[in-house]
Amino acid sequence: MTTTVPHHLNLVDGEWVDGERRPNGNPARPGEVVSEYAVAGRDTARAAIEAARRAQPGWAGQPIGSRMDILDRIGTTILRRTEELAVLLSREEGKLLSEARGEVTRAGQTFRYYAHQLLQPQGEVYSSTRPRVHAEVRRRPLGVVGIITPWNYPIAIPAWKVAPALAYGNAVVLKPAELVTASAGELARIINESGMPPGVFNLVMGAGRVVGEELLTSTGIDGISFTGGTGTGSHVAQQCLAHGNKRFQLEMGGKNPLVVLDDADLEVAVRCALDGSFFSSGQRCTASSRLIVQAGIHDRFVEALAAAAGALRVGDPLDPLSELGPVVSPEQLSQNLDYVRIGRDEGATVVAGGTHRPDEGQFMRPTLFADARNDMRVAREEIFGPVACVISVDDLDEAISVAGDTEYGLSAGIVTTSLSAAERFKRDARSGIVSVNLPTAGTELHLPFGGTGASNHGPREQGGYARDFYSVPVTCYTGW
Ligand code: NDP
Repeated sequence: MTTTVPHHLNLVDGEWVDGERRPNGNPARPGEVVSEYAVAGRDTARAAIEAARRAQPGWAGQPIGSRMDILDRIGTTILRRTEELAVLLSREEGKLLSEARGEVTRAGQTFRYYAHQLLQPQGEVYSSTRPRVHAEVRRRPLGVVGIITPWNYPIAIPAWKVAPALAYGNAVVLKPAELVTASAGELARIINESGMPPGVFNLVMGAGRVVGEELLTSTGIDGISFTGGTGTGSHVAQQCLAHGNKRFQLEMGGKNPLVVLDDADLEVAVRCALDGSFFSSGQRCTASSRLIVQAGIHDRFVEALAAAAGALRVGDPLDPLSELGPVVSPEQLSQNLDYVRIGRDEGATVVAGGTHRPDEGQFMRPTLFADARNDMRVAREEIFGPVACVISVDDLDEAISVAGDTEYGLSAGIVTTSLSAAERFKRDARSGIVSVNLPTAGTELHLPFGGTGASNHGPREQGGYARDFYSVPVTCYTGW
């Protein structure tokens, strides 16, 4: 029996553009090809940028009713195809099917949310200090936006950038991570079949240093929205400044703290840590990788979390009994295992996991370090795997100080039954997102998302705040 492998092509000016085909594998089943994608070169990226430039004014000039209809149609189609897209996403990235369903649903809802955001006020009127002058602030689209996305949310991150970009009248060139081109390819198909005018949305797949670099250096691009590692983000920033002083927005790494105080409900604390540290194989920028635990509850917490982590069923993400899937690639697995060695060498104690499943697939057991200190590499560097370390502290003051002692500042959480401790933490935690008695990784599409320090640069993403990046305020004075 012959099976045909699905393939995805680049989308330029409404046309599908082929190129050298590369396979895209399944991290749970080495050797299984999920799909093939056509690799774009710099010339394809250039053609996409030119098409976007031509199409953008017409798109921005369309009545908002037609922009709304198209965005709503994209969202509705994604939601209708949730199961099929979730299976594809799970196979190419390794997320549990249940998590993939949640991600696809979020992507569909995001397009529908931005369709309706267009009905919100889009400007402000001021009283002028001068007689017979009308003062107002209008918004115009940024123009052509290059969008560069990572592999860990193959459809949700493209959606939360592409949807507001299109809603506010921009044209888009999307460059997804090479590891997850099937999800991006399906998203492009849905957008192309939604009635979107040719050239408004373009997809170019290929290596960041080739296709991504073309977006960064092209004068045809007005802004770059990037999510990925902090090192890549710095490079994006430098290139944007050096090539036309482009606007840029960077969402980068995290080393997120979850504080557990003595008065915490132990069950809630373990649930928050288990979810925040290990679900999605810890491959979330908002993962709780530092568990900062007060001395009085420390031993009970470590024992209960180690037992819960050890009991998680690691397996094929399509198997409904699995509770943790594989990590995304052999390179990621070996980096995670390197950090286990580094942590041990630094004097931390592995109390759960620390190994990978010795069979096929990139399966790593959830790994918990006790006896960690905040100056250890495992507590300072983003591992991006199912690895967390427990740091013991004496009181809330020390917990807040340790939580803030990091170059990152994306998400921070506290588990406590004290209202005043929770309020203090919300006030003093040095991060863009704060959770109380909830996992650090839970976010909602209509609220702003972003961090401080090395986690972020530029305006917030998501919710109504996304407008700040994708549109430019224009201050208008009219004499009459
Ligand atoms: P990378 O920084 O390696 O890659 C991100 C994207 O940038 C990919 O599409 C990549 O392309 C592209 N890229 C790489 N080099 C260049 C370049 N020279 N020019 C332009 N583009 C380039 O991150 P990962 O994909 O490995 O994702 C993991 C990282 O993302 C983690 O650090 C994580 O914390 C962060 N992240 C942050 C989030 C946030 O909102 N704060 C959310 C999710 C992840 P390719 O790989 O295809 O070559």
